[in-house]
Amino acid sequence: MVPAGLYVHIPFCLAKCAYCDFVSFAGLEPLYEAYVEALLREAALVAPRWAEFSFDTLFIGGGTPTVLPVAWLEAVITACREVLHLAEGAEITVEANPGTVDFPSLRALREAGVTRLSLGIQSLRDADLALLGRLHNCQTAREAYTLARQAGFENINLDFIFGLPGQTVPQWQGVLEEALSLRPEHLSLYALTLEEGTPLEARIRRGDLPAPDEEASAAMYELAEALLGRSGYAHYEISNWARRTPADPPYGPPALACRHNLKYWRNEPYLGLGAAAHSYDGTARYANVSDPAAYIARIGQGQEAVAEREVLTPAQAMGETMMLGLRLIEGVEYAAFEARFGVPMRAVYAREMEELIQEGLLEADECGVRLTPRGRLLGNRVFAAFLP
Ligand code: SF4
Repeated sequence: MVPAGLYVHIPFCLAKCAYCDFVSFAGLEPLYEAYVEALLREAALVAPRWAEFSFDTLFIGGGTPTVLPVAWLEAVITACREVLHLAEGAEITVEANPGTVDFPSLRALREAGVTRLSLGIQSLRDADLALLGRLHNCQTAREAYTLARQAGFENINLDFIFGLPGQTVPQWQGVLEEALSLRPEHLSLYALTLEEGTPLEARIRRGDLPAPDEEASAAMYELAEALLGRSGYAHYEISNWARRTPADPPYGPPALACRHNLKYWRNEPYLGLGAAAHSYDGTARYANVSDPAAYIARIGQGQEAVAEREVLTPAQAMGETMMLGLRLIEGVEYAAFEARFGVPMRAVYAREMEELIQEGLLEADECGVRLTPRGRLLGNRVFAAFLP
């Protein structure tokens, strides 16, 4: 069987954060139950098409999956086990936000087989959280983390955002130092991107808030790299770090890396269930309808929810493998590329590689190519070069 990842999208949140343009909606509580029923039905509908795949990771993301009763999330996990081939020992991650979990719900998630919890903490300064329009404060965030440990989670990721309007490097350092003192297994640190149409972007456009400072943001990223490196965390993807352990392989991502997300970066197959979920079977990619009510209606009529399907050309597949793989600190290996596409990377991308190496954004050795530290700051410039 072909190994693959399984993603389930829960597009609901208690309120919309000021910077968020993800497919997530507040105020759709009346749809929750029908949505979960549709997820169970979708799993059965797509199962024949995905019969040759064995899913060794499951990621329930959102939105805020933990706005749903745990029993419903458990039903989704059970369906993935029974209808799709969710492998024994699969990594099962659930995203949660502080304020939507308590000890009983966390304990129930752990007992339902969830192996990894990803907490959207975003900051440990109340002023930052208020600016971002988050519903929780630092105290609630710390409590959620403590409760998750007490509930038996031994693999916890904490998400943070930096480069906020007016945020200083020392403030970010304080957040990072407190985060490190918690000793999570994994940290995801994202630079704020201002999305058009969000309240935060509107405030900045009106001049109510200063625009994020790109130089400060770069300094915050470099500070994170240095601080996390000194604190025993391996930087394995542009925005992701995992705690080093004796189980780490000598080369490549550490043992505590997110196995599910590694599939995306390695351009491996994954199936997405739910509104707006994307899938890639190694040949074509699919996108489900984004609107939760439309998704429920489509599945209710016994139809698949796919709104778009695109068969990738070899040039697209190669370009995406480069763009995604270069997000990994290990980069892309020549041998893996050639084994997959039957042509040498250095023949396909000779010009792009030479230019990017000259610009100091890419480095190459006898095994493969990877971003330089400067390339990690200017990743989008590098990725654009590989667009077909
Ligand atoms: S909790 Fe996450 S998905 Fe929901 S609105 Fe906030 S940023 Fe968006």
